Amino acid sequence: MTAVSRRRVLRGGAAVGATAAGSAFTGFGGLVHAAPRGTVPDIAWDELARGLDGTLIRPEDDGYNEWGHPQNLRYDARRPAGVVVCHTARDVRTAILWAQRTGIHLVARSGGHSYGGYSATRGLLVDLGQLNDVRPDREAGTVTMGAGARNSGIYSALQPHNLAVSAGRCPTVGISGLTLGGGFGFSSRQLGLTADALACTRVVTAAGNSLVCDERRHPDLFWACRGGGGGNFGINTEFTFRTTPVDTVAIYQLDWDWRDTTAAFAAVQALAAGAPNAFSCRIGGGSAGRTRPEIRAARKVSALGQFFGSADDLRDLLAPVLRTARPKRVLIENQTFWQAKDFFYHSVPSDRYAVTSSYLDRPLPERGVETFMEAVDDWPGSSNPDGAGIAVFAWGGAIGEVAPRQTAFIHRTAGFLLACQTTWAEQDDAALVAANLRWLRGLSRDLDAYGNGQAYQNFIDPGLRDWRRAYYGANYPRLTEVKRRYDPGDFFHFAQGVTG
Ligand SMILES: Cc1cc2nc3c(=O)[nH]c(=O)nc-3n(C[C@H](O)[C@H](O)[C@H](O)COP(=O)(O)OP(=O)(O)OC[C@H]3O[C@@H](n4cnc5c(N)ncnc54)[C@H](O)[C@@H]3O)c2cc1C
Repeated sequence: MTAVSRRRVLRGGAAVGATAAGSAFTGFGGLVHAAPRGTVPDIAWDELARGLDGTLIRPEDDGYNEWGHPQNLRYDARRPAGVVVCHTARDVRTAILWAQRTGIHLVARSGGHSYGGYSATRGLLVDLGQLNDVRPDREAGTVTMGAGARNSGIYSALQPHNLAVSAGRCPTVGISGLTLGGGFGFSSRQLGLTADALACTRVVTAAGNSLVCDERRHPDLFWACRGGGGGNFGINTEFTFRTTPVDTVAIYQLDWDWRDTTAAFAAVQALAAGAPNAFSCRIGGGSAGRTRPEIRAARKVSALGQFFGSADDLRDLLAPVLRTARPKRVLIENQTFWQAKDFFYHSVPSDRYAVTSSYLDRPLPERGVETFMEAVDDWPGSSNPDGAGIAVFAWGGAIGEVAPRQTAFIHRTAGFLLACQTTWAEQDDAALVAANLRWLRGLSRDLDAYGNGQAYQNFIDPGLRDWRRAYYGANYPRLTEVKRRYDPGDFFHFAQGVTG
């Protein structure tokens, strides 16, 4: 089949007439089963295209480049054999059943922000980005959305109603990955994790069943959908969350000279450790640039956060930090919740990047901060302006008020989440990329000494060896039971996927 004629049939229904629901798989004449894994014949792809309400995009088609590459370009070589651009939840089922028949590897992509590249595949990519309608229900105090909704679309739909769901800073992160792996942001110490507000979700299983999951219906799967990680049990097509009315908040940003880094970390972490739930905090530092002088000149440290209260009360709360660590720049002001969301919007890292994480029961001590500062001076550099560094987020608050076994999200007792990150760009050669990855691994190994052995499953790290324990801890055995029940054949699998 030529590329031209292929383009003609790719749009399900539009060119060749839609098949009736569920009748897409009238048979590939036995061809598919004879085909080795990964070499699916054109006739089978055409069957898939005809069965879709949405679009199938193959490498030779217009738009493939737009749809085919992952957000983290580190994994850009992992290009799909086909992308199903879902227009309906039925497309998800169609794609799953087709992939079951062909034996091709399938992964779901919603926001595409998997740090580990786990929403990239050489097989079939099921893209949910078009299922992004967000429907607030003011009376019920809930919001229902398609699995492809992203933070920006969710905030936009909720703003006219002054209702919030705690979500992240990055406008393009998807609700699916965010929720399934926990989901935190500057509202989480007050409102809980994104997953904690989940009231109901719809999941299409490996068998093609679309299950409504909540506390009563499929409660085990519902439990797993709150922290059990994306890509493990099925493809979620819809989420309903409880919302919270919001009004004004106060925000702050404090900046220090690099030489004051240890004092800044000590004061901010001490405050955060005993702060009310209304207070959130991220303190981070690092550098950017290619050459040693540039790296040293660009070193920065700052703290940032939100407070559910007034700027005056926030200033009082921050007083010990302002007094002892003496930031060189102080911003504290009242804003609407929505202005604050815009203030925090941040789409970093981008291009090519790697991240590690660990939970800390206590503040990162001075020796740990010094280790990080020495590491920044040793950073090999790269062409990515996002640079490299660490961030420490205050944990606890409402996150810690949920018992570790109540949802699949185990990390409820930690005091802080630590993330280490490095970034690079296409023009950086292989040796420099390898040096960056060695640098990150070395720094995170040194700082792990201060952690409690856990890591955040949404900062998924392909290099983490003991990931079952780190991401899921004592909840892992129960996750394997859920896996056996809903995906006994391990159809949804990836390198750090839950197995039955
Ligand atoms: C720039 C950036 C900023 C970030 N900021 C934050 C933050 O502020 N707070 C925070 O908590 N995290 C943050 N993260 C991490 C983020 O929560 C995770 O990367 C999350 O998994 C991304 O979800 P996604 O839908 O965008 O990604 P995807 O890559 O689409 O999905 C992630 C995983 O879930 C699977 N999946 C996707 N859709 C579905 C579905 N519908 N059903 C089942 N499985 C599915 C994928 O196959 C993949 O394994 C950030 C990440 C980046 C890159």
